[in-house]
Amino acid sequence: MPAPGLRSVDEHLADILSVVQPLAPLEVGLLDAHGCVLAEDVVAPQPLPGFDNSAMDGYAVRAADLAHVPAVLPVVGDVPAGPASPLRVQPGLCVRIMTGALLPPGADAVVPVEWTDGGTTQVRIDRRPEVGAHVRRAGEDVTAGELVLRAGSHLGSAQIGLAAAVGRSRLLVRPRPRVVVLSTGTELVEPGGVLQPGQLYDSNSLALTTACVEAGAIAYRVGIVPDEGKKLLDTLEDQLVRADLLLTSGGVSVGAYDVVKEVLSRLGTVGFHRVAMQPGMPQGFGTIGPDSTPVFGLPGNPVSALVSFEVFVRPALRRMLGVPHITRPVISAITTGDLRSPRGKRSFLRVWLEVKDGAYVVSSVSGAGSHLVAGLARANALAIVPEDVELVPAGTPVQVAMLERRQQ
Ligand code: AMP
Ligand code: MG
Repeated sequence: MPAPGLRSVDEHLADILSVVQPLAPLEVGLLDAHGCVLAEDVVAPQPLPGFDNSAMDGYAVRAADLAHVPAVLPVVGDVPAGPASPLRVQPGLCVRIMTGALLPPGADAVVPVEWTDGGTTQVRIDRRPEVGAHVRRAGEDVTAGELVLRAGSHLGSAQIGLAAAVGRSRLLVRPRPRVVVLSTGTELVEPGGVLQPGQLYDSNSLALTTACVEAGAIAYRVGIVPDEGKKLLDTLEDQLVRADLLLTSGGVSVGAYDVVKEVLSRLGTVGFHRVAMQPGMPQGFGTIGPDSTPVFGLPGNPVSALVSFEVFVRPALRRMLGVPHITRPVISAITTGDLRSPRGKRSFLRVWLEVKDGAYVVSSVSGAGSHLVAGLARANALAIVPEDVELVPAGTPVQVAMLERRQQ
């Protein structure tokens, strides 16, 4: 149960997922389709392989000519891979052939060069091939008219290769969502700049932009917006045209300069909630603008921002991409030390997950503070302690979300 007055993590996520939808399909080139979800069935117009061809470098022969080996056959020419050659294989003769070359008429087998003396005008063949040996038959992989990729498939490199192999240059896909990321805070300085007392580098927009890319989105980093309502409003207005989703960090608690809350609360359907989680309690979400663009107002503390991203934004982006699995894989692991969590809140603790003696174990790598960025960077998983649990004793199991930080 969430603490009184707080909204549960599940309720907040359900609210978000009831609003965000997969993006409308769009035809894109194959390279842009990588990582996207296919929105059409792909049918092969012609077979694969498209023609009988050699699986080896060797000699195209008639198997019947090699009933007795060793045998010596005259070589009438070469057939490299490429356009059809006029050569035929007449009885008692052979043609030197390269891998992938069209099998010349008359031939019914290929003798690999390793079975021969490698001759170019005549060749000695030491082993007898079966009919069809080392020949890749037309259509043995894919037949003409075959459904090779179904709508809903996730397009990895092998699927992109298959689409190309059947002759497609473009595919109808659910496009990657375009996310505009901005940080709010008058205290923030662009990394690399000079800090005055009281200032700190903007790390959230970098972390969130790259997290969006890891989730499969296209992310535009706008960078720092000061805590001034007008500036924030102008920036949101400017950026809305290129955004399928907007992400802000900072300015969502109850401080006097928390302008994101002030500004966004007045726009569209945006609402702010105290969510029963740690880190990341204040959360803003809703839609703004003529296209009802989803917007998240994430808390400013860097650990809160990135954990909120994991819990709420990543599933939303995955939903927009149309992929079947929108959440991280969660497994059970044994904790090596006591894990503590406030009653009434779901904790997401930064841990290191590894396999020891064939079992998953986790160890805490960070204190609880939501400003502890180094601890977050040491973690490869988040241990999830439910609302009604205050202590997970050492040696007992805990649910763990695995954070694989690579581009999807
Ligand atoms: P806020 O939610 O704006 O009150 O910010 C909470 C804390 O997070 C403050 O200590 C901020 O300085 C810090 N913070 C806010 N935005 C960022 C950011 N983009 N990068 C690093 N720290 C931030
Ligand atoms: Mg702030």
